[in-house]
Amino acid sequence: METAAIQSDLIGNTPILKVQSLSEISGCEIYIKCESFNPGGSIKDRAAKKMVEKAIERGDLRPGMTIVEGTAGNTGIGLAVVAKSLGYKMLAVMPKGQALEKERMLTLFGAELKLVDPVPFKDENHFYHTAKRLGQENEDYWWANQFENTDNFLAHYEHTAPEIVEQMSGKLDFFVCAAGTGGTIGGNTKYLKEHIKGIKCYLVDPYGSGLHHFLEHKEFQSSGTSITEGIGIMRETANFAKSDLDGSFQVEDSLHISLARYVRDHDGIVLGSSSALNLAAAFKLALDHKNTGSKLLTFMCDLGERSYSKMYNDDFLTEKGIEFNIDITEIEKRLSAI
Ligand code: PMP
Repeated sequence: METAAIQSDLIGNTPILKVQSLSEISGCEIYIKCESFNPGGSIKDRAAKKMVEKAIERGDLRPGMTIVEGTAGNTGIGLAVVAKSLGYKMLAVMPKGQALEKERMLTLFGAELKLVDPVPFKDENHFYHTAKRLGQENEDYWWANQFENTDNFLAHYEHTAPEIVEQMSGKLDFFVCAAGTGGTIGGNTKYLKEHIKGIKCYLVDPYGSGLHHFLEHKEFQSSGTSITEGIGIMRETANFAKSDLDGSFQVEDSLHISLARYVRDHDGIVLGSSSALNLAAAFKLALDHKNTGSKLLTFMCDLGERSYSKMYNDDFLTEKGIEFNIDITEIEKRLSAI
């Protein structure tokens, strides 16, 4: 293997792992692409790298400037890795109440952290609007704008998805994942549909997000809540609009949290919350096509460790009234019924 000159060179080229336990139960092949292997520990390193490279190329981001971004955490960590690698400063605007693990990593990677109250998107103090305002008011700030900046989509269209096609030798029947900005689902579904004949692509949406309802009824409406972080939106972003989807569905927290504990115990894989939702969705699709040997793929989006204080915290889940020990046959039954 070659040596890397700077840390951001290590972004991408992540491995794919077969989830043995769930593959055996479903009689299919269920794979996760392990984005936790990126230096910042998440899939958002890819978007961070591409957005920064393109901004430098365009002359929008110049030496001495500060990168500013509104983030649930992982994009900020990714941007901090890229900023340090290329000699920029980084300011992350983050809503209060996200897992403390992400706040800690952001500052460990050298980013400045500005915490704001978690308010609805229409409030001008939402982390997105705060970051945008900071970017507009300061000449030496560059706002990454991960939601509408389609270089985010491009990271996946040009890198993640071609890696998948190569690693799977062009053989994949189903792809499914959740959306935060929509960059991941946009870039991957568009490329996969163009390059793998017959592949079916789905969105899995957490409760509390409006994308599933939007795809079915053309308007944003949400119900319920979710403890997942970094996913779910109430508007159609430019990145999401590029998706090529065959359908969507929702999975409740109790099912994917219980399933995460099952694969932790049986496969030794510790998933973060969005990855657990992704895997539950892939398992659901596999159960819908039981014993067909179909190949399904989703993402392990970040390090499971980043969800330690919530998803793997029994007291927290009990307080929230979320079941976390549903037995695997009951999980199967409930997922199949969706
Ligand atoms: N999973 C995690 C853990 C994330 O932080 C994010 C992004 N916020 C996503 C999934 C969704 O990725 P995207 O922004 O590309 O839709």
